[in-house]
Amino acid sequence: MSEYKLLINGDLVSTESSFPVINPASGEVFARGPECSPEQLNQAVETAQAAFPAWSKDLAARKKALVAMAGAIQANSESIAQVLTLEQGKPLQQAKTEIMGSAIQIQLAAGLELPVEVIQDNDKGLIEVRRKPYGVVATITPWNFPVSIAMGKVASALIAGNTVVLKPSPYTPLSTLLVGQAIQSALPPGVLNIITGSDPLGSHLTNHPYIRKIDFTGSVGTGKKVAAVAATDLKRVTLELGGNDAAIVLDDVDVDAMAKKLFWGAFTNSGQVCIATKRVYAHESVHQKLVQSLAAMADKVVVGDGMLPETRLGPVNNKAQFDRVSELVEDARKGGATIVTGGQPIGDKGYCYANTIISDVDDSARIVAEEQFGPVLPVLSFSDVDDAIRRANDTHFGLGGSVWSSNVDRATEVASQLECGTAWVNQHLALTPMAPFGGSKWSGMGYINGRWGLEGSTELQVINVKRG
Ligand code: NAD
Repeated sequence: MSEYKLLINGDLVSTESSFPVINPASGEVFARGPECSPEQLNQAVETAQAAFPAWSKDLAARKKALVAMAGAIQANSESIAQVLTLEQGKPLQQAKTEIMGSAIQIQLAAGLELPVEVIQDNDKGLIEVRRKPYGVVATITPWNFPVSIAMGKVASALIAGNTVVLKPSPYTPLSTLLVGQAIQSALPPGVLNIITGSDPLGSHLTNHPYIRKIDFTGSVGTGKKVAAVAATDLKRVTLELGGNDAAIVLDDVDVDAMAKKLFWGAFTNSGQVCIATKRVYAHESVHQKLVQSLAAMADKVVVGDGMLPETRLGPVNNKAQFDRVSELVEDARKGGATIVTGGQPIGDKGYCYANTIISDVDDSARIVAEEQFGPVLPVLSFSDVDDAIRRANDTHFGLGGSVWSSNVDRATEVASQLECGTAWVNQHLALTPMAPFGGSKWSGMGYINGRWGLEGSTELQVINVKRG
C-alpha cells in the first residue's frame, strides 16, 4: 500500500499510527490514512501562525502562489481523481471534473481583491475601511466533495492573507493529502498545512488557541458542536451545514421536459449533495406522471463501482450512511409508503443502493422530515400552492429550494417565498463560484464564494487619520 503523508510546514510527514480507508464500491480497506498526533497538530498550527506575518503582507505574492497552486493541481488531476473515486465512490469522470473545478476555483480566487473603502478624505481627515485576515484558519470538510469543498474554502482564506490548517473527513482523507503533495512547492512553508485523523482531531483543532477562524462544512449536529467550541474563545466561524431542499412542481409544468432535470437535481453524486433536492411537492394534477417519469429515470441510470465506464452513479460513501439510508426507507415502507422503485441495496458487497422513488408518504415520515443524503427521493402531492410553500418551509433546514413551472414569473414569485439561502427556478443544484452560497436557519452561518466568501475570510479595520 502507498504511504500517504501529512503536509506540515512544507514537509510531507509520516505518522506513527494510521487508520483504514475503505473503497465504498467493495466495502474493503484499500489504503491507510495517516493519524496526526497531538504534537503534529500543534506543529501544524504553530507553523501556520509563524507563516502568517509574511504571507498576509504581500498580495502580489499570494496571487502568484495561488496560480501556481491551481497549475499543480491541474497537472496532477488524473492521479488525484483516481484516489478520489477509490475513497469516495463517485464515477471517475466526475472525480476528474471535481479536481479540475477545484483548480478553477483557486484561479478565480487569485483574481479577487477587496478594495479599501474611503469613507472620508478631506482637510479634516482620512477615514478608510480595510479588510484584514484573521490569522490561522481551521478548515474542516466532509466526504461528499472532499477536494472541491476544501479548495474553495482554502483559496478564499489564502487570498485574503490567512494561513490554513485543513482537516478532511476520515472517510476521504487521501485525495486531499495528494493535493498537499502536488502543491507542496507552490506555497511558502506553513501557509497551508493538511492533517488527517479520526473525528476527535477536528475537535482538537477547533479548540487550539491559535485558531482565529473556523470554516466548517458538515452536518448540523457537528456544526452545533463547532459553534459551541468557537463561542468559548470568540473564534469567528462559518458553517455550511446540511439541507433538506424542497422542489415545488406547479400544475403548469411540462413533465416530459423537466423530469430528467429534477432527477439529476436529486440524484447527482448519489444524492450526497448538501443542496440536492431531498423532497418534492408536486401539484396533484402532475404528481402521478412525475412519479412515473422519475421512476423510469431511476431504473435506467446505472449505479455501481465508479471505476467502471458504464457507471453513472457510485455507491453511498460509507457504512454508517448506507445504514441510515436503508433505515429511512424501511421506516417509510413500514409507515405505508409506496416504494415505486428501488428500496434495496445492490449486490452483496460495498454500499451501492438502488435509486429509489417513494410516493404516498406523509410530511411527518423520517424520509421527508430528515436529511437522507442518499439516492432516495420522496415525491408528495399538493392541491394548494400556499400550502406547498408552508410545508416546504416547515423545517429547521434552509439551504436551497426550487420551483418548477412553464411560467417563470409565477415560479419566481413562489421561489422568493422559500426560506432558504438559494432558491432556483426550473433548475436545482446550479452553483457558480462568483455568487454567495450559504444557508439560513440550521443550514449554516456566513457565506462562501466570490467577494462574499472573501469578506467572510476577513475582518474590518478602520484607519482614522486626523488632518489639520
Ligand atoms: P460530519 O459533520 O460528520 O463531518 C464533517 C467533518 O467534521 C469531518 O471532517 C469530521 O471528521 C469533522 N468532525 C467530526 N466531529 C467533529 C468535532 N466535534 N469538531 C470538529 N470537527 C469534527 O459531516 P459528514 O457526514 O462528513 O458530511 C455530511 C453532511 O455535510 C451532510 O449533512 C451535508 O448536507 C453536509 N454538507 C453541507 C454542505 C454545505 O455547503 N452546506 C456541503 C457538503 C456537505
